[in-house]
Amino acid sequence: MKKPLIIELKAKLERDDTRISKTKYTTFQICPARYEKIYVDKRYDELVQSPEMKSGELFHLFGKEFFDKVDVDKALPLLTFEDLSQYFETLIPVEYPPVTKECCRNFCRFEAEHFLRAKKTDIKFFFPLEREYLLESDEYIGIIDRIDLLANDTLMNIEYKLSSRWRVQYIKSECVFYSFWLNKIDPFDRKATMIGAYNANLDIWWQFKLTPWSFRGIESGMRKMSDKISKKEFPKRHTSFCRMCEFAKECFW
Ligand code: SF4
Repeated sequence: MKKPLIIELKAKLERDDTRISKTKYTTFQICPARYEKIYVDKRYDELVQSPEMKSGELFHLFGKEFFDKVDVDKALPLLTFEDLSQYFETLIPVEYPPVTKECCRNFCRFEAEHFLRAKKTDIKFFFPLEREYLLESDEYIGIIDRIDLLANDTLMNIEYKLSSRWRVQYIKSECVFYSFWLNKIDPFDRKATMIGAYNANLDIWWQFKLTPWSFRGIESGMRKMSDKISKKEFPKRHTSFCRMCEFAKECFW
């Protein structure tokens, strides 16, 4: 089986790079003490990789390669959702484990609906503008799962999820953070006006229209973060997240 590198690459970029990234920012927001243990003390090996994360590596690879495998000449004559879904499902690698295959099947059905909608306007809108896009500047580095071009010539950045925990507030802040940097670096001369996320495990699609208010607080949050890091201030923040934290023993016992 081809080795999936996407999530490993993301982790490597974040570990070996001093620039800000989404994971570093959100980790600091969740708990500065956790940030210190991971990124200052470099205790990466103690982080637990859940089965969902392992499945996520394969799924992300499928999501990246799917659009290269779609034969438009084969797909266009298929008029029904069922026929299109069945065709897309033939593109799922046979060697994938059953749990990942099920996520890929959900994705194929999701994309079959997307294909039928795009067909009514222009089939080019079915194909993402970018997949696993490396966005970077002197200050920032990150990989956006997918960037779609919208009919109004603006962008929508999209994240793929597999977690059985689906919390819109976290997903929104993650996607807004990506679009903040996408608009600031502006590599496509087009702004992001929408964000979206697809959870292939739960088969949930979520989207949100951005407004200038959506980015409120990000710059001041980053300023506060770099100020605390330079002063080596990493206070513990006890929240419900502590139950999932690999370092809980050090904080509570
Ligand atoms: S257990 Fe809670 S307080 Fe301690 S590092 Fe983890 S998140 Fe922070």
